Amino acid sequence: MHKDLEEIILHEAEIEQRVKELGDAIAKDYKCQEPLLICILRGAVIFFADLCRAIDIPVQMGFVSLSSYKDGTSSTGNVEERQKLMADVKGKAVILVEDIIDTGLTLKDYSQNLLDRGAESVEICCLLKKPEQVHNVDVQYQGFDIENRFVVGYGLDYAEQYRNLPYVGILKKEIYS
Ligand code: 5GP
Repeated sequence: MHKDLEEIILHEAEIEQRVKELGDAIAKDYKCQEPLLICILRGAVIFFADLCRAIDIPVQMGFVSLSSYKDGTSSTGNVEERQKLMADVKGKAVILVEDIIDTGLTLKDYSQNLLDRGAESVEICCLLKKPEQVHNVDVQYQGFDIENRFVVGYGLDYAEQYRNLPYVGILKKEIYS
């Protein structure tokens, strides 16, 4: 385990198993469509790469960078579009792929934005969900429920570190306080 972590909460093997299940579910639900999977950079990038390869039907890929966090560990309440989506969403069955839902603000705001731009449907696939969701977002595909602690690894960072850890763990408080 990395020295800055207090505890590993999700090991590589359990993540791999769950991602496979999510991929199977998506392939089954979208077997008559070619969904556009949108990766919310940068936190979802590892999950996205594994998920896409677990989906056994043709998919399209898009990438966007959104952030409601600056370099801190709590939400600022503002969604910022840092890198625009290049894919055309008009008439597409979109699946937004996110690393973690905390307040739900990021996804609520962005799902509506895509519908306004003509997406036929927008569903959400997230790896992790925290318990204190304030904004009401329907999550169709979800990996794991986790407690309300700040986690890193498997794409999730703190100040751009720890993204390449193959597991998800709780960062020691002394690292960010
Ligand atoms: P929301 O809009 O749901 O409040 O925030 C979602 C975003 O906050 C995520 O995409 C992620 O970037 C960030 N976030 C929320 N909780 C955590 C956490 O525990 N660890 C990390 N690294 N980022 C988090």
